[in-house]
Amino acid sequence: KAPTIADKKVTRYILQRFGLHMSKRLGQNFLIDAGIVQGIVDVADIKPGDRVLEIGPGIGTLTQALCEAGADVTCVELDKRLPEILAHTLESYDNVRVIQGDILKVNILEIMGEEPFKVVANLPYYITTPIIMELLEKHLPITDIVVMVQKEVAERMAATPGGKTYGALSVAVQYYTVPEIALHVPPRSFMPPPEVDSVVVDCKVRQEPAVDLIDEKMFFRVVKAAFGQRRKTLNNALKSIGVDKNIIADVLAQAGIETTRRGETLTMEEFAAISNILSKMSM
Ligand code: SAM
Repeated sequence: KAPTIADKKVTRYILQRFGLHMSKRLGQNFLIDAGIVQGIVDVADIKPGDRVLEIGPGIGTLTQALCEAGADVTCVELDKRLPEILAHTLESYDNVRVIQGDILKVNILEIMGEEPFKVVANLPYYITTPIIMELLEKHLPITDIVVMVQKEVAERMAATPGGKTYGALSVAVQYYTVPEIALHVPPRSFMPPPEVDSVVVDCKVRQEPAVDLIDEKMFFRVVKAAFGQRRKTLNNALKSIGVDKNIIADVLAQAGIETTRRGETLTMEEFAAISNILSKMSM
């Protein structure tokens, strides 16, 4: 049986054996904690035959545990040095394939096909939000997104209206999924330790989005405008979507929302009401 990669000594040995210097720029902080790695696999509830997309396999730490659990794993890794190393570290598994590329540029649907799959990843923190938005907005057949992110991002994903952390990311994540903070992970579980605390979030993708929309694009335009200028009242913040001030006042009145409220207090249903009225007007 292959040695467990999620271990300080084994990781150090692999880095040395292949002369790999980890890249800070690519967000390379490898897990060295087998308990956490197993925890991620458990949170994702991996069953034999589950199709999994892993973003950023690194030297194969989490990939190995996914393979051991019997998943059918596809990894996308940007670092050109890693596929060759992965061919060695994962040589005992035939249920994995590695694709070299940028997760923000590859065609995920082409790679994964149309059958349902899960996304499991210890994300590179420098592009966490773009990756999550890409996974959500592309309407891919994803059933569950289980990702390690920095604690502040996890809090934003799961935030409810009214607080400082509630923003466009909260609305987008909660429109498509039900996010839950599953594990807290300290810096010492990684090599090298990141400067921030980490959290594993489990986002179960909803069968149907949280609210009924006439036009998703309009909804996200309204959401982005409302949070783009968080300190402004709604009637001022919404001007940036290019609608006349009087019309905005009328739309808010129709939706039963006071013009003096700020975007950060609006529920998903209220954002939906505003955007659906705007969509109807432009039809
Ligand atoms: N999965 C490994 C682990 O848990 O130890 C490594 C996780 S490390 C935090 C993030 C990984 O994402 C690195 O291997 C990095 O090279 C890779 N990465 C960075 N940017 C990427 C991108 N745009 N597309 C795909 N992978 C990327």
